[in-house]
Amino acid sequence: MPYFSGPPTCRLCGEETTHGVTNSTNTLGNADRPYYACRCEGRKGFFSFDDYRGIQDENPPCNCGRPSRCVVRSMLSELYIEFLCATGVCDFKTLAGPDGSQSIIHPADIPELIDMGRI
Ligand SMILES: [Zn+2]
Ligand SMILES: [Zn+2]
Repeated sequence: MPYFSGPPTCRLCGEETTHGVTNSTNTLGNADRPYYACRCEGRKGFFSFDDYRGIQDENPPCNCGRPSRCVVRSMLSELYIEFLCATGVCDFKTLAGPDGSQSIIHPADIPELIDMGRI
C-alpha cells in the first residue's frame, strides 16, 4: 500500500519528487521497494520510501513528532538499524533506538526483521 497519495514536495528545494522502485538486487532488504526521489543537493537522490514498512509506534519520534521509520544502513562494512523521518519531511536520522543503544544486525537477520515489520 502506498504511503503517499501523490508525489510529495521536497522540503529542501521545493520541487515535486519523482517516483521510483529500488533495484531488485538491493541487499539491504529494500529490493523492489517503491520510493520517492529528489535530485537536489540536500537529498542526493532519495526522499522517502513509499510504503508503511518499518514504521512502528515504539520507534523514536522524528523532528515532526511522529514515530520514525526503521531502515537498514550499511556503514564501515557493518549493517546498522537506522531511524529516519517516516515521511521524508525532516532531516531526522539516528542509530540510537528507543533505549538509546545502537543495533548492529547480520545480513541473515534481514528477512526475519522484514517479516516482523521492523524494517
Ligand atoms: Zn529537493
Ligand atoms: Zn520528520
